[in-house]
Amino acid sequence: MSACRECRYIVQTKEKVCPKCQGELSDKYSGMVVILDPERSEVAKLVGVNVVGNYAIRVK
Ligand SMILES: [Zn+2]
Repeated sequence: MSACRECRYIVQTKEKVCPKCQGELSDKYSGMVVILDPERSEVAKLVGVNVVGNYAIRVK
């Protein structure tokens, strides 16, 4: 798996770029949060995302 350097979205397929923002992917990331309900999730606000999915906490 790899994570987007721009929006931290985690891609579980062998994409070359982020399907959300076309950003560059990195396989060096740490932590993972699953956002199921972005509208209500405190974690979603914390990591600044508004789309359901898996997100890395930190991407190098
Ligand atoms: Zn992205």
